[in-house]
Amino acid sequence: MRVRVAINGYGTIGKRVADAVAKQPDMELVGVAKTRPSYEAERAVAKGYRLFVAGSGNRQEFEHVGIPIAGTLADLLAQADIVVDAAPEKVGRENAALYRAAKVRAIFQGGEKADIAEVSFSALANFEAARGKHTVRVVSCNTTGLARAAAVLEPRYGVEDWEATIVRRAADPAESGRGPINGILPTFHLPSHHGPDVRTILPHLPISTTAMVVPTTLMHVHVNRVRLRTAPENTAELVEAFRRTPRFHVFREWERIAGTPQVMEFGRDRGLGFNDVMENVLWENGIAVDGRTAHFFQAIHQESIVVPESIDAIRAMFDLAQDGPTSIAITDRALGLSKP
Ligand code: NAD
Repeated sequence: MRVRVAINGYGTIGKRVADAVAKQPDMELVGVAKTRPSYEAERAVAKGYRLFVAGSGNRQEFEHVGIPIAGTLADLLAQADIVVDAAPEKVGRENAALYRAAKVRAIFQGGEKADIAEVSFSALANFEAARGKHTVRVVSCNTTGLARAAAVLEPRYGVEDWEATIVRRAADPAESGRGPINGILPTFHLPSHHGPDVRTILPHLPISTTAMVVPTTLMHVHVNRVRLRTAPENTAELVEAFRRTPRFHVFREWERIAGTPQVMEFGRDRGLGFNDVMENVLWENGIAVDGRTAHFFQAIHQESIVVPESIDAIRAMFDLAQDGPTSIAITDRALGLSKP
């Protein structure tokens, strides 16, 4: 059975999830929906995707500039088993009523509150929780990064206490209207919402987060200090635990990855779709174990980290894989993320 997938909202996340769905052996992309004509709408048609009009958009506006339209969002939903909502933050909640009316399952993104769906999801941490569900929320980029790291630490060592500082990118690269372009803005909500958001997936994880926004568009960086219940043998053991886990990329010192600019240059060199880096990125020399305390930096490519998670959520909801590792392996093979 190939699950028929629709994408509603074709921006940063939607266009990436569309390409990822099109690459999966057990899924079929039935179409994408967009509100306004743009280069992205033109590119969707050039890729052979059927384009539908969403939200307040009107068909004539697209056709006036020569972009063919296959129908309305309602037409698209009628042909789909599931819709991945990738509309802007909070718009997903308005769209939820449309999905219910069309009796189609739905995945929402991290810009929505947790109560929009039956479960919040991150493939390494709680794949089974999404099995058979009709609505799932794939958590935000930062929450995904933290949940993945928890899936490495918690089962191996147990977590007694985790403090994470989230250094947030100010905007995505194409968002020229957002800032700051200078200055560091502390998030005056202490602790930040990220810790409670991780607990929508791992309810008992003792994590506390603070955040600040800095003038960069490339990636977020997390500064982590974790008090573990049992001590790793040494730093090398923890490095290997991260390195062996799918969706983690650990750079070695000789690779000369000084920071996020080189990570994104690595992404351009590797040349996956959109030059994305969908893994949690760690540095071997940015991981240190001191008794039961682990320190590590991790960088998160906000535009792409949730893409493989959305694919695994579909597979869990339709019972297409026997377990999380199997689904992750299928997804990662199709996306070019498999480890050698
Ligand atoms: P975006 O602004 O890049 O794209 C959203 C798209 O939806 C745009 O093309 C917009 O025109 C379209 N749209 C507007 N109203 C619509 C409607 N009523 N119906 C359908 N489409 C509509 O946004 P994004 O960055 O892709 O974010 C989408 C979701 O993913 C949000 O919940 C966001 O919080 C979440 N998310 C974003 C990032 C990130 O860093 N960009 C990371 C993780 C999660």
